[in-house]
Amino acid sequence: MELLKQKILECGRALDEHVLLVDSFLNNQVDVKLMQEIGREFAGRYAGAGVTRVVTIESSGIAPAAMTALEMDLPLVILKKSKSSILKDDILQTEVFSFTKNAPYQLTLKPQFIQPGDRVLLIDDFLANGEAALGASSLLERAGAQVAGIGIVIAKTFQPGLKKLTEAGYRVDVLAPVKRMAAGVIEFD
Ligand code: 5GP
Repeated sequence: MELLKQKILECGRALDEHVLLVDSFLNNQVDVKLMQEIGREFAGRYAGAGVTRVVTIESSGIAPAAMTALEMDLPLVILKKSKSSILKDDILQTEVFSFTKNAPYQLTLKPQFIQPGDRVLLIDDFLANGEAALGASSLLERAGAQVAGIGIVIAKTFQPGLKKLTEAGYRVDVLAPVKRMAAGVIEFD
């Protein structure tokens, strides 16, 4: 998606070879018009895929996922990053290792917001090692849903996540695939 790639080149900052900062339009401040275009792009790609629900992970997935849900006229469900590891009857949890915090957290789904047989489009802001997307997919499948696809705004394709997800059989749509980064350098596939 050219518009997004241009925005990343203009406003993104490669902190080092591994971490990309996009805090001015996606993580801390949100370019809502760009998010709307991202929503349209995902909605177009998944038109006719039988998606019944859009799901994301708090917090930075919410803006692009909300715009996607709006365009597709579907409900949006948010998976929370709970600090508590205490299992309760009415929630599903799985442990995910956070790329940015370098620590594990409990990814949590309230299954009353997923119907068995739902076809879910999972949206997230970044793909690195695939931990968040794989954890989210396993929770959705435990709740009886099928993952119709995984829509990623920015994937660092030199990290293992994309390969892991495609090898696991998921359809993955990446809007901005970053193939290399260094301080001050961002290159796309
Ligand atoms: P993964 O679970 O694929 O290793 O990492 C994906 C999650 O980590 C995303 O939900 C995102 O919040 C965060 N993340 C991974 N890489 C980056 C990055 O380069 N920049 C930012 N801002 N977040 C990232």
